[in-house]
Amino acid sequence: MTPHPTSADDDRATHTPERPAAVLRSLPGRARPRKEALQEYEQESARLGEGLPAGLGALLVPEAEQLYRWRIQLDCGCIHEVWTRGEEDLPSERRRHGPEQEQLQKGQMLCVHDDGPPARYQNIVEWGERTEHTFPADPVEPRHGLSPQEWAAMRHDKPHTRAFWKVTLACGHITDTIAPSLEWKPADGPRLTDADRVAEMTEEFEEFWASNPTGQSPREREHTRRVLAQGWPRPEPEELCYTCRWVRWIMAYQRIGWLIPRAKQPQRQQPPSRATLERRLRQMEAEAKQLRTQLAQLDSHTEDRPQT
Ligand SMILES: [Zn+2]
Ligand SMILES: [Zn+2]
Repeated sequence: MTPHPTSADDDRATHTPERPAAVLRSLPGRARPRKEALQEYEQESARLGEGLPAGLGALLVPEAEQLYRWRIQLDCGCIHEVWTRGEEDLPSERRRHGPEQEQLQKGQMLCVHDDGPPARYQNIVEWGERTEHTFPADPVEPRHGLSPQEWAAMRHDKPHTRAFWKVTLACGHITDTIAPSLEWKPADGPRLTDADRVAEMTEEFEEFWASNPTGQSPREREHTRRVLAQGWPRPEPEELCYTCRWVRWIMAYQRIGWLIPRAKQPQRQQPPSRATLERRLRQMEAEAKQLRTQLAQLDSHTEDRPQT
């Protein structure tokens, strides 16, 4: 079987996006009041430290005194406030976490929008943790707009258990995928479908797409084509990445200041100016001159005094 050539509709991200250079500049609008930021810190640190022994909680939650506030602008245009550990710790140099605690790239952040781009398929590159989930029996009434016959053919009339695996995708994000059976393990590799059946399915799909051009979105059509070309493997070698939809780059940042303002440093003494030094030198020279005159006068009086 020859792999289906990639087409314009194959929108799988095939390369790591280039990291733009973030710049320090002033951003539109104003920072929120510090009191609000402090309230958020208190709520967040209480949430993070919840159920932890005080010592461990203190390790995980940075002290308010260590936190420096920034306003940042993302490539979607949104402006948010972020905190880093100190004024030298630039927000664009930090690695943040995705929804599954996976590390995002340096300078990336999540920003959830209603108008986000659609999710894209990404190849599965690593298999992680396995969990099982039991579903109740399906209702008798047809669902998902299916006819009673179609529904009857696929309906589960008893509770059923499925195995889910956490998988890392080529983009670095983590999602869940369904295993083909409870017994299946990643070491087993994907189960391929009988070649004759795949040929039949390919023909059926091609007919469906020809007669019903809008029956499947271009993304799903291309995904189906790729999976058919690979012999309809189960589990599928790719999954939709929803995290990619929300990952944005920090384009610009602006300083706000410490979450807890620092006590003012005592002003360093400025070195005296040349004019001040010259004035003081003149004064001292005048004083020295006066002292020498006084000394000379004293000496002359002593000499004048008759010897005893
Ligand atoms: Zn945004
Ligand atoms: Zn992704």
